[in-house]
Amino acid sequence: MAYMNKQLRHYVEEADKIFIIPNSFYNFINYHKSIENLIIKKGKTYHCTHCHYEFNSNAKIGKELKCPNCKGKYTTRRSTLKRYFTKKDLILLNKVEDKFVLRVFELYAQYNYELMAFDYSCTEYRRVFFDDKGYNQVVEGDNVFHTMGLSVVWHNHVRTCWKKKEWTWYYRSYGDSIGYISPYNIKPLLKNTPYQYSQLWKFVRKIKIFNLVELFQRCLSGYCNTFELLVKARLYNLAFYSFRFSNQKKTFEERFGVPKSFLPFMQKHNITYDELNVLRCCKTPNIRLLKALSGCNNLLWLSYYVDCLTAWKMGILSKRTEHEYKDYLTFAIQLNYDMKDKSILYPNNLKLAHDKLEGLVELCQNEANTRLIKERYEKLKVNIYQNKKFIIYPINNSEELICESKQQSNCVKNYIEKVALGETDIYLMRLLSNPNKSLVTVEVRNNKIVQAKIKYNKEISKEQQRFLDIWQAKILSKQTI
Ligand SMILES: [Zn+2]
Repeated sequence: MAYMNKQLRHYVEEADKIFIIPNSFYNFINYHKSIENLIIKKGKTYHCTHCHYEFNSNAKIGKELKCPNCKGKYTTRRSTLKRYFTKKDLILLNKVEDKFVLRVFELYAQYNYELMAFDYSCTEYRRVFFDDKGYNQVVEGDNVFHTMGLSVVWHNHVRTCWKKKEWTWYYRSYGDSIGYISPYNIKPLLKNTPYQYSQLWKFVRKIKIFNLVELFQRCLSGYCNTFELLVKARLYNLAFYSFRFSNQKKTFEERFGVPKSFLPFMQKHNITYDELNVLRCCKTPNIRLLKALSGCNNLLWLSYYVDCLTAWKMGILSKRTEHEYKDYLTFAIQLNYDMKDKSILYPNNLKLAHDKLEGLVELCQNEANTRLIKERYEKLKVNIYQNKKFIIYPINNSEELICESKQQSNCVKNYIEKVALGETDIYLMRLLSNPNKSLVTVEVRNNKIVQAKIKYNKEISKEQQRFLDIWQAKILSKQTI
């Protein structure tokens, strides 16, 4: 177990002195006990493990069924069920001095085959001490056993002390703070804190299970007013992202990026932040559209050119195709197509249209490159130089470069563009006696040789080097191109 510093030890000891379990938390546990019940089918009789009422039905195994006596809704299981149990973490929020504390209880429900009823055990085994500024310390009781990377709570072992939880590679610290949170004591607990108007208790009733430490540190600290506003507006899922909305008092439309008339729609579907982003781009209150496109990265860009609803309805736009669609539209823009023409904006077959335009763009680029390389050659041809053995001249077209590049196995495409843009010049040095066979490829930048290579990347010979040195001194260094 890891070392517990003085400060943490103080909080742990104080907590043990002052903590009690409020009655409301027992009610919370009882509620969670009751919902674990089952309805056991024995022949034609159905038995409720909660109230032990027996009744007839023809419900299928695995289906949820309502007990006519206690009105509880439970899953139907066969009477052959023997080993069956559930575990869940229930969380009580508490405070010690300036720190909040999550008290984590494990509720263990075990089905008793003979009695057709559940045995329960609920025990506290972890405490998370935290504040809204990033403090987060976890202690566990000695009723937790770690074995083979698993933590097991021993319900028949009485806890005698707390130990700081050790960090190990397999355990993710945020998992320590997740569980069903009891909402009942939160309002009085937050009185006289910066969070007394936060409406957190309402939020907990709606969302039930989430990471409360993360919520404090990300959504409440500094964004409490926004959080309160979102909870009051019954936009619970957006309250998780309170830090994304401006704290400044602004109109609804400025704050959410959509008209206020959308509010009832947003409330009805308790929309998420990703769904709001879709709504901002599409301005269409259609929940199927929002769910289909939530998480897309290019919607804002796309919405400048196309109507996302139309594109989605036509099957062109989806999470899977958004990148391809953006590429397609980019090609259309590069080709100077009419970006008001519906037959261009909404192609019948995106894949085909994309590939066709991609080919066209490439062709145009090639044409442009060919023209530019030719223009460059006209300027560079003054550098052509020869002695009795060698000749050196700049490349004249891309085919020449491709042919040369193949032998040097460098990226042809890259070089073509660089040469066309004049970033670099490629010269071919050859034997006068065999001018069609490549010998040395020379790269020149700002009239200076930056590299000279022969086949298989071997060093050039002394004789070849001498030729290049003379060329550099006599010709290149005098140029201002
Ligand atoms: Zn019942």
